[in-house]
Amino acid sequence: MEENQNMLHRKTRKKWGCIFITLLLCFTPAALAEEESQERSSVTVHVLQDLSSYDALTEDEAKGSPFIPESLEDGKAVIGSDNRIIITNPYQFPYSAIAYIQAKGACGCPWDATGFMISSRWMMTAGHCMYCVEHHAPVKDVKFYFGYEDERNYLLLQDAGCTIWISQKVEEGTDYHEDDYAFLRFDDPIGDRTGWFGYWYDAPGSAIESEVLYCAGYKDGILKSDYDWARVYDSKFVTHTIDMVKGNSGCPLFDQDYNVIAINTAEAIDGTVNYGVRLTEKMQRLIQREGFPE
Ligand SMILES: [Zn+2]
Repeated sequence: MEENQNMLHRKTRKKWGCIFITLLLCFTPAALAEEESQERSSVTVHVLQDLSSYDALTEDEAKGSPFIPESLEDGKAVIGSDNRIIITNPYQFPYSAIAYIQAKGACGCPWDATGFMISSRWMMTAGHCMYCVEHHAPVKDVKFYFGYEDERNYLLLQDAGCTIWISQKVEEGTDYHEDDYAFLRFDDPIGDRTGWFGYWYDAPGSAIESEVLYCAGYKDGILKSDYDWARVYDSKFVTHTIDMVKGNSGCPLFDQDYNVIAINTAEAIDGTVNYGVRLTEKMQRLIQREGFPE
């Protein structure tokens, strides 16, 4: 399969005009995937039914704290010390809480993506990281590597016991970019070993723009990190110029206190700017309905 061809035309939204954006998925050659084990356990995928109305979040619901396991505390990484650095120790927090995802759709397409833990059992990623939007097919087999160096060296590998919810808009496949998110719940409390990010739903624009944001994602199994100022585009998006490449879909945009404020999802087709989907009240209400944070 060629590199991602999903160049999507956002229709008649005023603010977007005719901006073309391209997803940041990384499609791997099909031949490579066929060499992989056929033994992968399948996962359960659900579609999140939309909420007609929901209450505003309390302060506790809107903001969650990161968790750093004792075993990783000493090795906590200094974030943002260089531009677009290769993370040489992905075992360190917060990188330990970021997963290198190797996925295969029910359609047969293989792809790589990134996701991040937000509690002991819950992960968040971009919706199109769990769904082949080209063939309208959910992910069928998936491996989550944490602290990935190579296929033999990693902090943790999870490839079974996972329930996935994708947003309804992604499943419908049209005009879904502002709803490009998915939640995953692992049967095992793997976050106790990997740590997890805090989160900030509906973070005020002033807070988002007052400090640099960090981003770290996998591409071909290599974790890279970068940071820059982000801009609030509207209530759904931030834009940023943090250096991103394919495979970085689903990686976290987080502040210096490790609170995720957006999910990295797409880039402008001319490469000038990247888009992150902001964590919103609606998303928190949806994930709560499915049982978060338990
Ligand atoms: Zn496909």
